[in-house]
Amino acid sequence: RERAQNFTFQTEVNRMMKLIINSLYRNKEIFLRELISNGSDALDKIRLLSLTDREILNTNPDLSIRIKAEPEKRLLHIIDSGVGMTRRDLVQNLGTIAKSGTADFLSKMQDSDKVQESGAQEMNDMIGQFGVGFYSAFLVADRVTVASKHNDDSQHVWESDANSFSVAPDPRGDTLKRGTHITLHIKEEAADYLQPDTIRALVKKYSQFINFPIYLWAARTETVAEAEPEDADDADADDDAKVEEAEEKSEPKKTEKTVWDWELMNDNKPIWTRKPSEVAEDEYTSFYKSLTKDTAAPLAKAHFVAEGEVTFRALLFVPRAQPADSFNRYGTKTDHIKLYVRRVFITDEFNELMPNYLAFIQGIVDSDDLPLNVSRETLQQHKLIKIIKKKLVRKALDMLKKIPDDEYEQFWKEYSTNIKLGVIEDPSNRARLAKLLRFQSSRGAGMTFLADYVARMKPNQNHIYYIAGASRAEVEKSPFAERLVRSGYEVLYLTEAVDEYCLSSLPEYEGKKFQNIAKEIFDLNENEQQKERWEAYKKEMEPLTRWLGDKLGAWVTRAEVSRRLARSPAALAATAFGWTGNMERLALSNAH
Ligand code: ADP
Ligand code: MG
Repeated sequence: RERAQNFTFQTEVNRMMKLIINSLYRNKEIFLRELISNGSDALDKIRLLSLTDREILNTNPDLSIRIKAEPEKRLLHIIDSGVGMTRRDLVQNLGTIAKSGTADFLSKMQDSDKVQESGAQEMNDMIGQFGVGFYSAFLVADRVTVASKHNDDSQHVWESDANSFSVAPDPRGDTLKRGTHITLHIKEEAADYLQPDTIRALVKKYSQFINFPIYLWAARTETVAEAEPEDADDADADDDAKVEEAEEKSEPKKTEKTVWDWELMNDNKPIWTRKPSEVAEDEYTSFYKSLTKDTAAPLAKAHFVAEGEVTFRALLFVPRAQPADSFNRYGTKTDHIKLYVRRVFITDEFNELMPNYLAFIQGIVDSDDLPLNVSRETLQQHKLIKIIKKKLVRKALDMLKKIPDDEYEQFWKEYSTNIKLGVIEDPSNRARLAKLLRFQSSRGAGMTFLADYVARMKPNQNHIYYIAGASRAEVEKSPFAERLVRSGYEVLYLTEAVDEYCLSSLPEYEGKKFQNIAKEIFDLNENEQQKERWEAYKKEMEPLTRWLGDKLGAWVTRAEVSRRLARSPAALAATAFGWTGNMERLALSNAH
């Protein structure tokens, strides 16, 4: 017979545990969120497997999470009927860290400069958002026991005091049918987590949107007429339900009874299946927080049912801020859309539901039209996925367009680069994206939408003028803009690296073409008289322009009399299809 075996934790696990204990000691309560979320993941897994193999649920058809406290023994039990773990899983999953990115995360967090730079709260947020997982159990427990029964193995017990762990066959046998039973030996100072009210509050705070029922083994007082028989007709009367007689009240005909039973703590009807008109704003906010682990409310949301070629429900959110390093991972990162088919969680790893530039959008898609009993790979290739993506992008852009002015400032600060990359990368949504663009301009210190620029255009103006450079101060001084600005034309100031690329891929806005004024030919909307005058100057100055052309022959295409200068004696313009000085500058700085 198989014997107990002792193991040491992988180095990363030790580092992770140290980090958790040192940085989250003021935020211990998240352990419950993490353990419930693991239970929910395990339930998702067995439910997904059952779609292609119905027999799989026979071992235990119930899909739930149950929490039971034994304050006098200082034990807290968290039991799920999910997929469970084999002996091998217990050793692997609860002894090593397989998650990609964990190593990165750890080294970043241990970078002492960083830790000092960012405040304790920020650290907490970062770690909290990363999802510290199972090891957070040691925030409140000095010993953790995990009994688990997987369909492919007999029941085993994993046990640890955070220093090392052991795995052994469970001497009690296969008591779990299927799933995982975690027992936390609660530290003295964490005894509050054994109180039903604390547990209820934590479940409400962090886990109310878990899509499986979460029960608490709890007492409730019932007043019953004495004549009636024992109250045993509870809807889901459990085998374990116990009824204890309490002391009789003065009223002789009534008896108070303490009834112990499983109390449902969450409303496990998915929020996105409800009517938008029946969901309160703060419910969306709490759902968003539990979905993303963000501590701030979202900047925008959209909840809708799409119909037509494919029917699906979706709930989308824009986080108030995006992680500082998101552009380092641009294009490699998966999107943040969770895919459900008929309320069953399928995956959050498709990366097929949002383009790169909208990867910051968080949300959920649930469709009845996708097949359930196919492999993920087959599903990923399914033709409806493309159609869903197309609609999601449209809806996401609508959502962004509706962000009110006072919030747009924040949106633009965080996501302007995403939108500009979108203009470059997504030709089919260019016109929609263009409506979101904002630039500085010669009009004043503020930013302007293109629509507002167009509304202010002079009656004879055919083009949207812009100039790009490294800073506002630089473009403001540019000789190219001198005469335009002096004659009352507005010029957009493009001061971000991506701006000039962005506008060069945008052919027009509301029928108005763009004109980069650092380039050679452009329409100055001159009248006949002005044109005649220019022709006259050109003739008069011909000896000079010819002489300059000869002198600078190797450096310039040609020298000509300028129509755009007001104060400066000369300017170096790019040819219509050549690079502007700004593009040259960017290319050089990229090459370095
Ligand atoms: P994560 O959930 O992000 O993968 P955790 O540290 O929370 O990381 O959990 C580590 C792994 O342990 C999980 O990926 C899973 O394989 C396994 N695990 C943890 N809890 C359970 C559970 N209740 N049932 C089945 N497997 C579990
Ligand atoms: Mg987890």
